[in-house]
Amino acid sequence: MKLIFEKTTPAGGINLTDEVVHVDFIAPQLLRKGEIGLPRVSELEVMRHYKELSDRNFCIEKGFYPLGSCTMKYNPKVNELLANLDGFANLHPLSNDCQGALELMFNLQGALEEITGMAAVSLQPAAGAHGELTGMMIVKKYFESRGETRKKVLIPDSAHGTNPATAAQCGFETICVPSNEKGQVDIDALKSVLDKDVAAIMMTNPNTLGIFEENVLEISKLMHDNGSLLYYDGANLNAVMGYTNPALMGFDIVHVNLHKTFATPHGGGGPGAGPVGVVSRLAEFLPPVVQAENGKWKIKNGAQSIGSMKGFYGNFGVLVRAYAYILMMGANLKTASADAVLNANYLKEKLKGAYLLPYDTKCMHEFVLSSDNTMNIAKSLMKHNIHPPTVFFPLIVPGAMMIEPTETETKARLDEFVQIMLKIKDASAPENKIDEVRAVRQPDLRYAG
Ligand SMILES: *Cc1c(COP(=O)(O)O)cnc(C)c1O
Repeated sequence: MKLIFEKTTPAGGINLTDEVVHVDFIAPQLLRKGEIGLPRVSELEVMRHYKELSDRNFCIEKGFYPLGSCTMKYNPKVNELLANLDGFANLHPLSNDCQGALELMFNLQGALEEITGMAAVSLQPAAGAHGELTGMMIVKKYFESRGETRKKVLIPDSAHGTNPATAAQCGFETICVPSNEKGQVDIDALKSVLDKDVAAIMMTNPNTLGIFEENVLEISKLMHDNGSLLYYDGANLNAVMGYTNPALMGFDIVHVNLHKTFATPHGGGGPGAGPVGVVSRLAEFLPPVVQAENGKWKIKNGAQSIGSMKGFYGNFGVLVRAYAYILMMGANLKTASADAVLNANYLKEKLKGAYLLPYDTKCMHEFVLSSDNTMNIAKSLMKHNIHPPTVFFPLIVPGAMMIEPTETETKARLDEFVQIMLKIKDASAPENKIDEVRAVRQPDLRYAG
């Protein structure tokens, strides 16, 4: 496919130099001297160009997207409509006092506090990993405020790579805690590395195997008795909404991926949001939070805040979508979690005869299969207009395929997926297989012209 710059024609589009443009009010030194260098293309050609680009992309509207851990559920279009309302979409990013926007944020903070059980929430972080960074900075500051220097963070071997990366970035030493034969944190292994130098544990529950950590209360007691904190990676919140929450499990800090659980379109690097919630004793460390003060809404730092993580409102459009989604779902958020879990268990039961299921137990919203033909299966799925599951993760399962159907799929769609998965189990390598190792080792991202 050609770049839009290659589609340019001398007579294409409109020539701004032919138009009467009043620039008298702009200082001469600020005016552009040469050509702006934009492609000259007619409106129709522009439309075709971007349509062709979008057709090359795979999205939930195009087909089934069981990408484990990413919660690629359907994002109701009414959320887009609301986020695009003039007062929301055209809000100046540097304004910090728009009362309507702040009220929405205050209400969203409240909704997330209720869903997570946390005492206070800041909406600023821009993604899950950014929320993790925020959370670990809070951990650090908390111990500093107590005059303690704790250097270690415990991380189960099933964790998402952003967990150890974030802890390391904050200067912590990361200690890997192995999983037991049930795919859960090995308590004895945890006890053996728990000492007064441990600042926190970062856990995901259900974990990335799609398994609920049954011993989470025992773990939180062990950690708290040791004076350590518990961080909850909320990427899998879609499994438990309304049934339990991280506060009930004993966690102190939580991030929520609004772009996973709360229906903001994602993939392809679009904006997300990773609000962070904390228990009351950590509230003063949060980045700015919207508060009510003398009948007005204000964005304010706590007494010992780690400071701003982003512009005043964070990724505001994502917040509007999440708020709209939560309001529309109401108590049905619980049904969403139930259906997500039901769909995953349905697929697991249908596929476990044909594929190896390393942890054969009731799963939550996703499950992990194992195969020695994972890459070929993933490629074959693409030919069937299905996005492959997350592959080769979690790292503790060889040839992992992590399947998350979400709650928004019909039974017919799930059955079709099962049929295809059974058929392509022994798929062979596609003829024009990409040399992925070379693509990683010697990437050539230049435009060759
Ligand atoms: C997606 C994910 C993250 C990171 O979230 P981003 O929003 O992509 O930064 C962290 N942990 C788990 C388990 C995830 O699935």
